[in-house]
Amino acid sequence: MNTVAFSSWNGKILDNRKGAGTKAAKTAEMKLPVQPGGKKIAALMGWNGVVVVDPKADVLSLTMAYLKEARKLSCGECSVCMIGIDKVEAVLNGMAAGKGSRKDLAEIETIARGVAANAKCNFGRATALTPVLDAVKHFKAEFTALAEGKTKPVAGKSYGAAVTAPCMQACPAGLDIPGYIELIRNDRCGESLNLIRERCILPGVIGRACTHPCESACVRNAIDEPLAIRLLKRAAADADLAGGASALSAVVEDKKDKVAVIGAGPAGLAASYHLRRMGYPVTVFEALPRVGGMATVGIPDYRLPKDVLNHEVDLIKRTGVTFKTNSRIEKLNWTDLKKQGYKALFLAIGAHVGTKIGCEGEDAGYDGFVQGAEFLRNLSLGGKVAARKKVVIIGGGNVALDCARSCARLGFKEVEILYRRSRAEMPASSEEIREAQEEGIRFNYLKAPVKILAKDGKVTGLEYIKMKLGEPDQSGRRRPIPVKGSEAQMKTDMVIAATGQRSDLAIFSGKDGVATTDWGSIKADPVTFKSSVEGIFAGGDCVSGPATLIEALNAGNKVARSIDCALQGKVFSDADPFAGIDTGAQRDAGFVVKKTASKVKFLDVARRLEDVSEVESGLNAADAKAEAARCLRCYRLMVWE
Ligand SMILES: Cc1cc2nc3c(=O)[nH]c(=O)nc-3n(C[C@H](O)[C@H](O)[C@H](O)COP(=O)(O)OP(=O)(O)OC[C@H]3O[C@@H](n4cnc5c(N)ncnc54)[C@H](O)[C@@H]3O)c2cc1C
Repeated sequence: MNTVAFSSWNGKILDNRKGAGTKAAKTAEMKLPVQPGGKKIAALMGWNGVVVVDPKADVLSLTMAYLKEARKLSCGECSVCMIGIDKVEAVLNGMAAGKGSRKDLAEIETIARGVAANAKCNFGRATALTPVLDAVKHFKAEFTALAEGKTKPVAGKSYGAAVTAPCMQACPAGLDIPGYIELIRNDRCGESLNLIRERCILPGVIGRACTHPCESACVRNAIDEPLAIRLLKRAAADADLAGGASALSAVVEDKKDKVAVIGAGPAGLAASYHLRRMGYPVTVFEALPRVGGMATVGIPDYRLPKDVLNHEVDLIKRTGVTFKTNSRIEKLNWTDLKKQGYKALFLAIGAHVGTKIGCEGEDAGYDGFVQGAEFLRNLSLGGKVAARKKVVIIGGGNVALDCARSCARLGFKEVEILYRRSRAEMPASSEEIREAQEEGIRFNYLKAPVKILAKDGKVTGLEYIKMKLGEPDQSGRRRPIPVKGSEAQMKTDMVIAATGQRSDLAIFSGKDGVATTDWGSIKADPVTFKSSVEGIFAGGDCVSGPATLIEALNAGNKVARSIDCALQGKVFSDADPFAGIDTGAQRDAGFVVKKTASKVKFLDVARRLEDVSEVESGLNAADAKAEAARCLRCYRLMVWE
C-alpha cells in the first residue's frame, strides 16, 4: 500500500494534498505497481486517471510524457484523437514557451471532450485524453501557473511507459492483439504476422488450437459477440502460407555459448527460436521421431493439420536450430553436456505419462485398456487401431474429447465419455463439446469407474459408481461424491483413461537431477525459470503440469530471455508494470456500435467422420478484414516516474 497525495484512479478522488484527515481526503492508502528494480512510483498517469504519490512530482511534465506516448498509439484512422492529442500538445507547448493564457485550460478541456465524443475507437474515446482532463481539473493551480509563465515543466525527465488492453492482459503470452488486428484490417497481413511472431512463434497452430482466453476478455462480450481473435491470427498465418511463406527474422549476431534444449514441444520451440535469433547455437534433443510435442502427438489432425505445424517448425529449422529427433535423454548428464560446450540447458519435457484413474484392473495389462495420451501418440505416429464396437473414455478435458472424436473417426460404433462431474464442471471447451455431440458422441455424467471388467485378458466392460456433487474443491469445481451402493456395470470393448498427465522424471534417475515437486513436476523459479541446478532452466508443462500451448510458448519466450541474461551476466526482470493497479473496469464506457461477427464454416458431420480432415475452416480475406474492423482498440496506456 502507498500513501498517495492525490488519485483520480477509476474516477474516485482521493485528495490528501492539504493533509490527510482534511475534508477532501477520503483515504490515504492505495495499491500501486512497483517499477522494475523495486523502485517506488512517484506519480503515474494512465487510462483511468492520475495518481501522485510524491507531492513534489511534476504533473505538467508527466502530462507531456503521457501525450507523447498516446500519440504513438493513435492510429490516425479517424484522425480525431491524433488531431486532438496534437492540439493539446501544441497548447501546452505554447504555455511552456511563455505564450499561454488562462483560456488555454478551457481549450484543452474542449478538445479532450470533443475527442472522447467523436473518436471511433475506445483508445480515442476513453484512453487518449481522459487523464489529461483529470490533470487539468485537479491540478488547476499548476496549469494556471504555466499559462501565466510562472512555472515550466521540468525538462529532461525520463518516464516509464507500458501499454495493455483487456485482451492482451488475458493472453498468457501478452500478444499485442489490437496491434495485429489493426494490421489485418489495413491489408498488412505480413506485418501482422511478424508482430504475432514476436511472442507466438506458432501462429497457424495457435490460430487453430488456442484456448483463446483473450476472447473471454474482449470488451465486445458486453456489446454483441467477442472478436474472433484466434481466427484472425489463423487468417494472418494462412495468408502468409498461401502467399509463398515468409521467413522468420534473421539471427542478430552470432554468439559462442551453446545452449541445449530437451524437448521439442511449443516451450522448447519458442525458446530455441528466440535464442537462435539472439545468435546462440541451439541443439534440441527430442525423444520422438517428430518435432512439435503435444501439438504433433496429442492434438489430432482434424483440429490441427500437421502440414501447418510442420511448416512452422520448418521455418524455425531454417534459422539454424539443430533438431536431434529420436534422441531421448535417458539419464540427464549435465556435467557431460557442459564438457561438450553447452553453457545453459532448458528442460522442456512436457507431461506425457497418463495419470492413474484409481480403478481396479488398470494395471493388469488388459487388451483394450489404454491411456489417452498414449492412444493419441500411437495414432499420430501411424499406429493402427482396429475399431471395436464400443469405447468408453474416462475424463472430461480436451484429451478425453480428442480420444473420443478420434475413435468416432476410426469407426467405433458407440463412443461414450464417462465423467464424474456434470457438464458445468467439464474442463473441455464448449466448442469441442458441441462438435463432439454433433458427431454422435454420448456424454455420461456423474459416474466414476470402479473396476475394468475383462475376460481372457480382454476388456469386456466397466463397473462404475454414481456420483453426486458436493461443495467446491480447491479447483473451484464442485467435488464429486460417490453415492453408496449405486455401483452398476456397462459393456464395452475398450476403455481409455484420459484424466491427466504428468512428466516422466526417469530422466533424473542418473547422477544429475533437479529438484521436483511432490506432484511430479520440475521446480523452477516463477520469474527466471531457473531450476535448482546452476545453468539448468525448466518451463512449459513439465513445470506447470498439463496446461496450454500458449502458456508453453510464453514460458519458452521468457526462458530465452532469462538464459540470455544469465549468459550475459545481466539480471533478468519480468515485472508486470500493471501488477498492483486496478485494471478492471474502463472508467469511460467507450464505443458501443454493434457489428455482426464474421462466421466460419464447419465440415458436414457425415463428411467429418470419413477421415481426419480439418473440421473448422478459416476466415477468408474479406471476412477477416470485416472481423478485424470490429476491434474496438481498447488500448490502455500508463506512464510513470
Ligand atoms: C490430446 C491433447 C490435446 C490438447 N489440446 C490443446 C488445445 O487444443 N489447446 C491448447 O492450448 N493446448 C492443448 N493441449 C495442451 C498442449 O498441447 C500442451 O500444454 C503443450 O504442448 C505443452 O508444451 P511443452 O513444450 O511444455 O510440452 P510438450 O508439447 O509435451 O513437449 C515436450 C516434448 O519433450 C519431449 N521429451 C520428453 N522427455 C524427453 C526426454 N527425456 N528426452 C528428449 N525429449 C523428451 C517429448 O517427446 C515432447 O516432444 C493438449 C494436450 C493434449 C495431450
